[in-house]
Order: sequence, then structure tokens, then C-alpha cells
Amino acid sequence: MKITTLRLILGDQLNHKHSWFDSVDNSILYVMMEIRQETDYVTHHIQKVVGFFMAMRQFSQELHEQGHRINYIMLDDEINTQSLTNNLLWLIQELDIQLFEYQLPDEYRLDHQLQLFCQSIHIPSKAVDSEHFLSKRDDLASFFKGKKTYLMESFYRMMRKKYNILMDEGQPISGQWNYDADNRKKLPKEHQPIQPLVFEKNVEHIVGLIHRFAIPTIGNIQVNHFSWPVSRTESLALLDYFIQHCLAYFGTYEDAMHPAYWSIYHSRLSFSLNLKLLHPLEVIQKSVHYWEQNQNTISIAQIEGFIRQILGWREYMRGIYWAKMPEFASMNFFGHNRKLPSWFWTGQTKMACLRHSIGQSLEYAYAHHIQRLMLTGNFMLLTGIHPDEVDTWYLGIYIDAIQWVEITNTRGMSQYADGGIVGSKPYVASANYIDKMSHYCGTCFYDKNKKTGDKACPFNSFYWHFFDRNRALLEKNPRIGMAYMSLHKMSDSTKQELLKQADFYLENIETL
Ligand code: FAD
Ligand code: SF4
Repeated sequence: MKITTLRLILGDQLNHKHSWFDSVDNSILYVMMEIRQETDYVTHHIQKVVGFFMAMRQFSQELHEQGHRINYIMLDDEINTQSLTNNLLWLIQELDIQLFEYQLPDEYRLDHQLQLFCQSIHIPSKAVDSEHFLSKRDDLASFFKGKKTYLMESFYRMMRKKYNILMDEGQPISGQWNYDADNRKKLPKEHQPIQPLVFEKNVEHIVGLIHRFAIPTIGNIQVNHFSWPVSRTESLALLDYFIQHCLAYFGTYEDAMHPAYWSIYHSRLSFSLNLKLLHPLEVIQKSVHYWEQNQNTISIAQIEGFIRQILGWREYMRGIYWAKMPEFASMNFFGHNRKLPSWFWTGQTKMACLRHSIGQSLEYAYAHHIQRLMLTGNFMLLTGIHPDEVDTWYLGIYIDAIQWVEITNTRGMSQYADGGIVGSKPYVASANYIDKMSHYCGTCFYDKNKKTGDKACPFNSFYWHFFDRNRALLEKNPRIGMAYMSLHKMSDSTKQELLKQADFYLENIETL
């Protein structure tokens, strides 16, 4: 049968349940491609490039086995121009295609590129929904229309009602929307979290390909032990493992950090979710079902904490992205302009908390939320790193980093570069908080209790430096009143010493 329709599947559109695949039609050719355009738009962690290629190849193989026609363009294929649109154009001309279809991309960059492409070709084109998210691109913008603030909590409650999750006749089950106060505990000394489930695959062939093409990457990889799920089967196995072994402790320890454990009770499902190997609703429904059967061992605080992340934060961030792009990508509320210290790419710092968090990010392409927010992100915000530098680091280093969810978390939640769209106040902390939630300070070169002088913890003076230098922008924020009251009560000499200490550390940021 002659092929008349070309359908594009992007690397993060591996949705087996998409209606495109409900039936086999031999007049349709699916196309997937490994291209330098995507490997090079930022320097990615090597595990991220390998993870994407492995998952794409597996997905294409499975479509082929189901009888679909698929053209998978490998990185080293002769016909590969390494550009998305040039490859598409070549296929359209070569096969005399009559209709081009694609699923709406999640990234503004690709969305724009494909729109321009469709205007430039002389055949009809059609964009369809990716059938993955639980809200449409512009649902959040409509929900908050006319409102000054975009409160995640209101959006989350609307989503709970809409999908009837943890609800009882229109009210939150057990009477409370939010169990944050019950969560956020430090790991007790003797407590050992379960080992994370890893998939030990050999990825030598793909690593060889990446090296042959001299694709710039960061981070480490063990070619015989690639640990991330790259198929739907593996993603479902990781979901089951999380539900059975981690859910019972998820909320309690979601903010805990420990140098010996790199994921504690976190699900590590973000990669599978962002590639669409898992649907958010199936993750939510399976977790809630398991909780319903095991309420004697899993408290409501645990399941609510988990559902909030997926039904709340994940959908909310996507809505913010489409409401605020492209302006969002250049927001810099504080006018920060410092360069990221070079040790962010090596982990070579004397600060134990950052050495560990950056080190594990290079080792596993993963750090959990509080490490991203309250360690690396906190340090970058306190020291005034340019948000472009911040984005480049986060977008490259994490296996789950795709711009729609990276930039909203980085520029928005973590750096307050949006001036308060995502968060109502900047997330900053001194050693006091870090020590409360982690086991890093005991092994550190610096002294968590000292604010100035030899070996004083840098976070302590940076904290006050941040509030002092941003007084004009932050003092009126009612959620920050306490910090300015403390600054006000501080003697002039104490304040000057703190600022001098912070300036000294900032001048010597490369050697911290
Ligand atoms: P869990 O803790 O097990 O949470 C379950 C799921 O909830 C996650 O898989 C994720 O899909 C969702 N989720 C949780 N928090 C958020 C959030 N704030 N925003 C959106 N979804 C959330 N997440 C990414 O997927 N890609 C990124 O590039 C990314 N960059 C981040 C950068 C910074 C500075 C910060 C503070 C957070 C970032 N996050 C990002 C959000 C969050 O840290 C990760 O989703 C989470 O750590 C992934 O690990 P997990 O699957 O074990 O999550
Ligand atoms: Fe981090 Fe300071 Fe604690 Fe060291 S003392 S681990 S730098 S918070």
C-alpha cells in the first residue's frame, strides 16, 4: 500500500496508549530520529542521551512488532541530516507524502520550529494532542484568568475535584487537603531506606556511538549497569516497586537528605513520566488503589504527599510554562549575573552538602527535589548566579530535564527569577535548615554553627547577604517579614561582619 501520511514521534512522546496506535494503517509511516539538533542544544548528561536513545529504539521496535510502518533514523544513518525539519522534508519529498501529522510538543522550541515548518511545506499538516497530561496547555491560564497570583494549592484542589482523587462527596477524604505538616522529617540515624530498583543493562553500543560522534556530554556512566527504565515494562516495574516499598514512607521523608542514600523513598518515575512511557493518571490510580488496600500501614499523609506532586505540581508547572513562555525564559527578577563556579561540573567543593548532591547528580543523573531546591538551587540563588547559567546546568544534568518542567522549577520555584509567579517567596536557607533535614554537616570542612571567621559555613553569611542586597525588592513581601525583622535587630557591627564574610566568599567562590 502506498504511504500517504507521515507522522512524527518525538523522543519524549513514547506514549503506547496514544490513539494513533489503536489500529494499524499501512498508508501511514511513523518517523523517529536521533539527531544532533537534540543532542547538542545543551550539554546533556551522558545517561540522559543514552536513556533517550534506548527508550526511542525500544519504542520503535515495539511499534514495528505491532505491525505499524516505522522509519527509525539512527544517528549514524547516511541519510540523517541531523536536523528535524531537513529530515522531515527529505522524507516528504522522497515518498511524495500528502499529509504531515505530529503530536503537540511539550517544548516551546520544538513547537515553534514545527509550526514554521508546517507553514513552509506545500502539503496539509495537522497537530494532535499528545494525550498525556491531565490538563490542556491553556487550562491553567484560564483557571487563573484575572488573578494576580497563581496559587498551586487552588489549582491542585480543582484537579483533585475534577478527577475525583482522594475525594469523598466533593470534600477531601478524611477532611484535610494538605498533610505537609505531618511530612518533612529527617532520616533517623539507624533508619536504612530500601535500595533503589535499578535495571542493569549493557549500553556499550550507544555509548560508543556517542563517543564516535564526539557529542559533548557531562557526568558518568557504567556501560554494563545502565540503571534507568527505558521501556514501558520496566517503567511499570519501577512504579510497582515504588508503590510496594516506598509509598509508605514517601511523605514522611520527602524532604530528608543523606550522603549514603541518593533517592531515599522518592519514586524516580520522572524520566518514565516525562517520556510518556507512563501516564500520570495510571500512576495516580495505581498508587491510590494500593493505599486503599493498605490503609493500616500507609497513612493518608503519604499518599496525599505523592498525589500532590503529580496531580498538582507537575500539571501546574506545565500550565505555567504555556501561560508564560517565551518571556519566562529571560526573566531575571534580581538582575543576577554571576557565573556558575566551575566545581558545579565536577563536585570538587569543600562544602559536604553540595559535594554530595552535585557528585550524585554526576553519578546518577538524579538528585531528589529537596537537593535540587534547597542545596544547589539555594546556593545559586544566594550567590546571585545568572538564571541562564542555572538553566543550562539543570537542563543538562538531570535525566528527567525537559524545558517545560526544568525551567519552571528552576527560574520559577528555585530562583524566584519570575518575581513570584510560581512561588510566593524565594526558597533560601542557611545551615540551620540544611542540618535539620540532612546528615551532611557532621562531615563537613565548614562549621554549620559559625557565621563568620575561619571555616564558617558559607550558607550562613550568604543568607543575610541575599536579604540585605535585595531589601528594595523583598522587604514588602509579607511572607519574608521575619528575615527583615532579624536584620533590623542585628547590631551594625554584626551585620557588617556578616556582609564582609559573604563578600570574601563570593570573591573566592571558585575555591569554596
Ligand atoms: P518524586 O519525589 O518521587 O515525585 C513524584 C513525581 O512528581 C515526579 O516523578 C515528578 O513527575 C512529579 N513532581 C514532583 N515535584 C515536581 C515539581 N516541582 N514539578 C513538576 N513535577 C514534579 N522535574 C522534572 O521532571 N524535570 C526537571 O528537569 C526538573 N528540574 C527541577 C529543577 C529544580 C531546581 C527543582 C527544584 C525541581 C526540578 N524538578 C524537575 C522537579 C522535581 O525535583 C523532580 O520531578 C523530581 O525530583 C523527580 O524525581 P522523582 O521522580 O523521584 O520524584
Ligand atoms: Fe553544607 Fe554548611 Fe552543612 Fe557544610 S556546614 S554541609 S556547607 S550547610
